[in-house]
Amino acid sequence: MIPRTLFNAILAALACSAAAAHAADLTIHLDARDVARKRIHTEMTLAVAPGATTLVFPEWIPGEHSPSGPLDSMIGLVIEGNGQRLAWSRDPLDIFALRLNVPRGTNELHITLDSGLSTEGDGFTASPTSSDQLAVLPINEFVLYQKGRDAENIRTVLTVIPPQGWGVATALDTKPGSGGGFELEEASLTRVIDSPVQIGRYMKRVDLPGSAPMPELRHDIAIATDSAEALAFPEELVAGYGNLVAEAGALFGSRMYRHYTWLLTLSDHVAHFGLEHNESSDNRRDERTLIDSALTPWLAQLLSHEYIHSWNGKYRRPQALLSPDYQKPMDGSLLWVYEGLTEFWSDVLATRAGLLVPEQYRESLAVIAGTFDTEPGADWRPLGDTAVAAQQLYYSPAAFASSRRDTDFYDGSVFLWLDVDAEIRARTNGQASLDDFMQRFYAGQSGAPQVKPYVEQDVYDTLAQIAPGDWRALIRRHLDEYGTKALFGGLERSGWKLEYTAKNNFWLEYYEKRKQVTERRNSIGLRLDKDALITDVIEGRPAAKAGAGPGMTLIAVNGRKYTPEILDAAMVEAQSSKKPIELLVENNEFYKSLSVEYYDGPRFPHLVATGGQADTLSSVLAPKVTTPAK
Ligand SMILES: [Zn+2]
Repeated sequence: MIPRTLFNAILAALACSAAAAHAADLTIHLDARDVARKRIHTEMTLAVAPGATTLVFPEWIPGEHSPSGPLDSMIGLVIEGNGQRLAWSRDPLDIFALRLNVPRGTNELHITLDSGLSTEGDGFTASPTSSDQLAVLPINEFVLYQKGRDAENIRTVLTVIPPQGWGVATALDTKPGSGGGFELEEASLTRVIDSPVQIGRYMKRVDLPGSAPMPELRHDIAIATDSAEALAFPEELVAGYGNLVAEAGALFGSRMYRHYTWLLTLSDHVAHFGLEHNESSDNRRDERTLIDSALTPWLAQLLSHEYIHSWNGKYRRPQALLSPDYQKPMDGSLLWVYEGLTEFWSDVLATRAGLLVPEQYRESLAVIAGTFDTEPGADWRPLGDTAVAAQQLYYSPAAFASSRRDTDFYDGSVFLWLDVDAEIRARTNGQASLDDFMQRFYAGQSGAPQVKPYVEQDVYDTLAQIAPGDWRALIRRHLDEYGTKALFGGLERSGWKLEYTAKNNFWLEYYEKRKQVTERRNSIGLRLDKDALITDVIEGRPAAKAGAGPGMTLIAVNGRKYTPEILDAAMVEAQSSKKPIELLVENNEFYKSLSVEYYDGPRFPHLVATGGQADTLSSVLAPKVTTPAK
């Protein structure tokens, strides 16, 4: 038998270990009350074992596919154990890692981290994320934990304290916490990092109707804006986004979340992009997006894209893009599936849902086809390489983008997947389509988030289950060949081809208005920003041949001060006069006149039916469960 005293000691030890097992490994108190000054104060308690320890700051950020963890934001750090301040030193070969010695008898660290949020730049979550009236808090910026630990196994409780009177929105459940804060439900560190927190003075939640499968699940759009006026959410959009939920349910046949929230942040002072998460997404656009009808189609593309990622990217993720401790480098080779297939479906589902009409879809597709039609970079760099090099291309400058290539695995893969869709239809006599691939590849048990990794062969194997054939050969042709033959072949197989007319493409006009740029790549071969800076020239087109280059400023056209309208008028005039267009440019303080021999007038991309091919594109765009908008 066991002596009584020892028995009591064992009971006490068991009680302690039960309590320890229940306590979170990491508690985070994130004080955002000073966010107007872009300062965040975080206090963490992290369970540790004594001895040499390496703490890390997240480096490889999911969805950003790059080592973009913003180390710059760290502006103060104190690490204590048992009330004693502990010295740390940075790993000289891994600057995201801090080494320290945890003294004997110390089983938790108290970490105080001060962060300065970004005030400039446009690189995802490391770029401006707050204004005077709102903020989106990417949690990866405010944590440290042990190197090599799978974040999935770090139980975490996060409390966020916003400025007084501000609201909070996040995918995790919240309840009132200490110090006027909001305590989020306990979850793994992976899930906490995957659940950014939106805070703001002007906030509103729009509930959307649910749909099969699992019509009882909550779907909502949490809006934070810089003014009360900008919160207006048009009633027809509630139905439209409800349709999007329905069409996505029909496409995937599952819902890999307990509920889904679009965090929609509308401000002219935060960087504009979208970042996917499993049960939410971080979507950022101009303040007036909901009250300017020219801007709402852009919103549909964004919200649809990030939503599809809940399945394609979060649930099914390339094995090589997993980084369990956010330190393991990511391999972007399969981004033509992760991003490319998402890009394909985002506009298709938005059209099926009635948020876009087919003509808008086709004009949008014509713009990207026109881009690839004048992209010298495709002659030296295959599409697949843009995916492998994503971590660099996301941050590349606009200068030389057409010669370098951009993150083309997004738009370029749309044609790849159009080709695959047409091929499935052809091989099955119209009995199957890419929809069937989606049903199979993304099949799973609806409900709590999960990750089911895949490798490239899994994609080909699933396609072969629908229609036998050499899918690798068809797809790798798009990814590995130089030039755009495969790309335009994919477009024509869907029943459409690219043509140019003098009539502007209205989708391009939206784009130019929103981005404040002038795109004349398909005619004279120039791209300009709002300050008349030539951001890129298309090598081989007339402006480049006459001596124009990126970095020059366009001062005047045919002797008159440059505006986009003056440039267009000069192109029209040259068509009949057959006289060169004279461009006055400034190149680093030196002025020169360029004589551009261009006589084909304004030239904008559009799609026209080939006539000879079945119009599979229109079949792709047809709603599956909702009534199309009139
Ligand atoms: Zn994406």
